[in-house]
Amino acid sequence: MSIVVAIDGPAGSGKGTITGIVSKKLGLVNIDTGAMYRCVALATIQNNITLEEKDKIIELAKNIKIEFDSEGKVYLDGVDVSKRIREKDVSSIVSPLSSIVEVREEMVNQQRALAKGFDIIMEGRDITTVVFPDADYKFYLDASFEERAKRRFLQNQEQGIEMSLEEIKENIEKRDYNDMHKEVGALKRTEDQIYIDSTNLTIDEVADIVIQTIKEK
Ligand code: C5P
Repeated sequence: MSIVVAIDGPAGSGKGTITGIVSKKLGLVNIDTGAMYRCVALATIQNNITLEEKDKIIELAKNIKIEFDSEGKVYLDGVDVSKRIREKDVSSIVSPLSSIVEVREEMVNQQRALAKGFDIIMEGRDITTVVFPDADYKFYLDASFEERAKRRFLQNQEQGIEMSLEEIKENIEKRDYNDMHKEVGALKRTEDQIYIDSTNLTIDEVADIVIQTIKEK
């Protein structure tokens, strides 16, 4: 049986960084589901489709090819879009787009298919509740709003993505609200998740908690 580690949490809570470290240390395949929704958002922009044209977005979600390599790079129809999908235009439409139920169904199917036969660590918003409710390990990673915005700002700067701290705060605030109030696949805390507030913890401390929990169980 394959091992499934599921991590949910809001934007900027450190999920991507932590899954990157834990996957390398424990030899797990790392799947960033937010990147998949971002690919659908980018394809929507590239095809001049508006958020109102739901049928076209659903069709697109079914027809684009999303792939990851072993370094965590993301490819949309064969093109490396790892940086492009973090830009402002994608970030501003990804949350409403991911509220489209049929888009979620398609992504959830693809996520389960990607995981099949592998020991994986998967991060997103609905991994512990919808994609793998029976995962071997379930975590909810959190941090204060200010800390999450600051982290995302620094991360963007490192990657050369232009967004002011104010813009990031506004984007995170909107996404948090929308992500927690979705009809299907909403970000939720549940009793069977291990809750980690990383506001005052270093990256290594959080990664150690996750790794120790997995090793102990
Ligand atoms: O994780 P990241 O911030 O890159 O995710 C981008 C957006 O994709 C989220 O704000 C959320 O709206 C959506 N998402 C989702 N379900 C997931 C992962 C991401 O709805 N499992």
